[in-house]
Amino acid sequence: MIEDKNTSKTQLSDLGEFGLIDHLTKNFKIQQETTVLGIGDDAAVLDFKQKQCVLTTDLLIEGIHFDLSYVPLKHLGYKAVVVNLSDVYAMNAKATQITVSIAVSNRFPLEALEALYSGIETAAKIYGIDLVGGDTTSSTTGLIISITAVGHANQEELVYRSGAKENDLLVVTGDLGAAYLGLQVLEREKEVFKVNPNSQPDLDQYTYIIERQLKPEARKDIPQLLKALEVKPTSMIDISDGLSSEVIHLCTQSNVGANVYEEKLPLDPTVISTCEEFKLNSTTVALNGGEDYELLFTIRQEDFPKIKANPNLTVIGHITDQDSGIGLVTRANEKIRMTAQGWNPIKE
Ligand code: ADP
Ligand code: MG
Repeated sequence: MIEDKNTSKTQLSDLGEFGLIDHLTKNFKIQQETTVLGIGDDAAVLDFKQKQCVLTTDLLIEGIHFDLSYVPLKHLGYKAVVVNLSDVYAMNAKATQITVSIAVSNRFPLEALEALYSGIETAAKIYGIDLVGGDTTSSTTGLIISITAVGHANQEELVYRSGAKENDLLVVTGDLGAAYLGLQVLEREKEVFKVNPNSQPDLDQYTYIIERQLKPEARKDIPQLLKALEVKPTSMIDISDGLSSEVIHLCTQSNVGANVYEEKLPLDPTVISTCEEFKLNSTTVALNGGEDYELLFTIRQEDFPKIKANPNLTVIGHITDQDSGIGLVTRANEKIRMTAQGWNPIKE
């Protein structure tokens, strides 16, 4: 099992609240010119001039959203930032600042929070965002993390869930289902470890899918790519809960239907082989897996030539009128109604 190597333990009470905040945040550098003032006063000050401000927040609770028996704290910090930034990019906006609030029990030594913040710091560096504030408090049992991400865009650049129109093409970035399968592998190893703590799992063949689960990336590149290609999506959403659920969100908010083609779903070879091993249907995994943090968007048909050669982008279907419903067209050319909870294949 993956465990934090750090074994030395410093009680949080040794530092006091202000010492702790200072210790955890002292290495963060301000990188954005929109940050007028970061940590240290009663509130941060940001200046977006004529731009529209985008703001999003997430709350993560130990035992509900993460399991520290196989998620290293450093990865948790990184992922907690990334999932928030993904929501900013899904608005076709630039992410610039975050705040991080934590509640911790005395079960956590300083070294655990250092690991968490080193993951947050890595994400801040890679994505070029500033940590500009937060809150620190105690909890009776587990760890709670809440991150708020801030970004901006010109008014005409923002893309909402509600803009999809009939005949638009449905496009997805990257590939689907890997993060879910990574979780299945980690959970299986956790069970093996419970029975035999000396087992040394060989996880090499699962590197890609475990990374997709433990260290997901947000598609910062996509708003930039679309701008360079001169394509403005008509609607966009990030894939956090699984493709089916997100297609349904887009269609519901846009008052349209959609056809998604099973044969077009982008799958990594590791996803296909691991599905075979776990006796899972790869289409079900791609549709309902979740936590891929790819982007799903719609474009007008006439923009297709601009995106078709790009290996990051796959057209998986098109938008129909609302009465046609939201369906998956199978390889056997049957249309099955898509549901958010799960897709039951008629034929295996
Ligand atoms: P207040 O009492 O006004 O809430 P705090 O003492 O909690 O102020 O916070 C002092 C400064 O440290 C503020 O700028 C706040 O945003 C920042 N801060 C507090 N906790 C954290 C944290 N966990 N991560 C990052 N910044 C934090
Ligand atoms: Mg406070």
